[in-house]
Amino acid sequence: MLKIKNIVKKTKRNVFALNDVSLTVTKQEVIGLAGPSGSGKSTLLRCIQELEKVTSGRIEKTGKSGFMFQDFQLFPHMTVLQNLLYAPQINTPKQDHKESALTFLKKLGIPDIKDAFPGTLSGGQKQRVALARSLMMHPEILLCDEPTSGLDVATIREIITLLKSVQDLGITMIIASHDLDFLTKISDRIILLKEGKIVADMQPSQFEDPIDYLTKLY
Ligand code: ADP
Ligand code: MG
Repeated sequence: MLKIKNIVKKTKRNVFALNDVSLTVTKQEVIGLAGPSGSGKSTLLRCIQELEKVTSGRIEKTGKSGFMFQDFQLFPHMTVLQNLLYAPQINTPKQDHKESALTFLKKLGIPDIKDAFPGTLSGGQKQRVALARSLMMHPEILLCDEPTSGLDVATIREIITLLKSVQDLGITMIIASHDLDFLTKISDRIILLKEGKIVADMQPSQFEDPIDYLTKLY
């Protein structure tokens, strides 16, 4: 599904944002990407999505990947439905994407807000719209950057259910978050990054107290 081989990413100031990272992800796996601020989580996701070029190393992907940005990046002047239709209409203009957009909105529990503008929505609703918009591109891998940041506990619980339903669609996920409680609830496997290196690769289900284990390595 995804093979990352010895990637290095140096920033403009010659700092190693990623320093020899290798990782193999299999289909339908949910990977949690943990690590302190500045450890390279966003950089790794951005390199996988090809938003940034790696300095060296290789990334092999078998399918398309989709990216869910930390701040949603919805178009404020477009309705929810228009936000969902925008990218697919550029890629395949001859197709009618509306039905598939309405199906995703229904699946994610927000069919009633299709004509609303992003500015009128709650954080949880925006997150669902951002997710629906990513799914419109039919990604095999979904990359989520800090999907719970700025959301309250109840909304985070909803996001967990939501992301589990994405996994049920057969989509592989890599979820970057500094929230270990959230990550241990959602992930099959957690990769801990520190200063651009992988310092742990573990399955939370194999540990009695996975948060304690990870905290000690932080
Ligand atoms: P995280 O998402 O884990 O907080 P980042 O991937 O954003 O970490 O950052 C990793 C490192 O790369 C940090 O040292 C950060 O300062 C640096 N970095 C990230 N993006 C840039 C950039 N566009 N220009 C310069 N340095 C950057
Ligand atoms: Mg980040």
